[in-house]
Amino acid sequence: MPTNKTFDYLNEELQRLQREGMYRIPAVWSGASGPWMETGGRRLLQLSSNNYLGFTGHPDIQAAAIEAIRQYGSGSGSVRTITGTLGIHDELERELADFKGTEAALVFQSGFTTNQGALASLLGPDELVISDELNHASIIDGIRLTKAERGIFAHKDMDQLERRLKENDGRKRAFIVTDGVFSMDGDIAPLPAIVELAEKYGAYVYVDDAHASGVLGRNGKGSTDHFNLHGRVHVQVGTLSKAVGVVGGYAAGADVLKRYLIHKARPFLFSTSHPPAVAAACLAAIRLLRHSQPLIDRLWNNASFFRSRLQEEGFDTGGSETPIVPVLIGKPDRTAEFSRLLMQEGVYAQGIVYPTVAMDKGRVRCIVTAAHTKDDLAFAVDKLVAVGKRTGVLQ
Ligand code: PMP
Repeated sequence: MPTNKTFDYLNEELQRLQREGMYRIPAVWSGASGPWMETGGRRLLQLSSNNYLGFTGHPDIQAAAIEAIRQYGSGSGSVRTITGTLGIHDELERELADFKGTEAALVFQSGFTTNQGALASLLGPDELVISDELNHASIIDGIRLTKAERGIFAHKDMDQLERRLKENDGRKRAFIVTDGVFSMDGDIAPLPAIVELAEKYGAYVYVDDAHASGVLGRNGKGSTDHFNLHGRVHVQVGTLSKAVGVVGGYAAGADVLKRYLIHKARPFLFSTSHPPAVAAACLAAIRLLRHSQPLIDRLWNNASFFRSRLQEEGFDTGGSETPIVPVLIGKPDRTAEFSRLLMQEGVYAQGIVYPTVAMDKGRVRCIVTAAHTKDDLAFAVDKLVAVGKRTGVLQ
């Protein structure tokens, strides 16, 4: 039946986003992920990918995926709890648990659904959840799905966290939730202080290591390993989509945690498991990570070179202490303009604006990888400086 309904109201909202510099048109890239990529017929230096170690192009990972398609076919055929747990899924989870030093690990379809599914099922009305204000959207959404009492602490503010724990006075089971590395600022959570407070007040600790997996800790084992807090963090979430170079997420911890999530986490229960090629590629990547310290050292070396060059030039890189290096610009329209001019100069660094970050904290977020050469990074700095001077961000 014909309908006279129109979507004018959607268009109005899109026009508002456009007026305020918040409208996004995803660039379409040709070729593989890497330090140089093509879009619209132009070759650009890429500073926005999470492919920290260049694993998306690794021949061993690709060969494992191809072999798995031959052995298991293209899809898993079902959700995990019916016929969708193939040998390769099981093997990946054992490998992940061993790598992380936990009893068990459970793989989800993405990092996003890991947080959504794990938080929504772990937090009921008897729980208090206290979350860093800069935690990732998937944590915020996971918490929104629960009936838990919610508290937020100012970014990395341990006094505020302690006050919230004190107010609770042991009445509810408390969960402290934090990113291991913060995705928009590139700073590291004060995990030792969080764990100490958790132990003082009997709380659980939940860490999202999306940007710490493959980056922090020995061979990229994550923030728990980096701070030597093994056995003191109750839920370690990671992604398989960033440094690991494939797609997916996982929650690592006690065996009982895994068995509970299998029964309760809705994205796990009601969505088809990864294709065998994905699981096999992840498995090959985790095996490679075990010998990847030299590559990780190169990543950190690149990051400190790039960050200190930007600071020498007068840019504000916020609290960055990892390969995520934001260059702070300001309001959304100014940030969008900076990013656009940078692209004209041959460098792609995504503008991140409100509501992802505060209205006056727009930034171009640069992500350094191990695959960048020093020349690549020096080129990027030159272009950032040129645009910085042109726009008045630099004096
Ligand atoms: N947590 C954090 C901190 C992230 O930055 C991201 C990626 N944007 C996710 C979770 C979601 O991970 P994925 O892309 O694997 O869904």
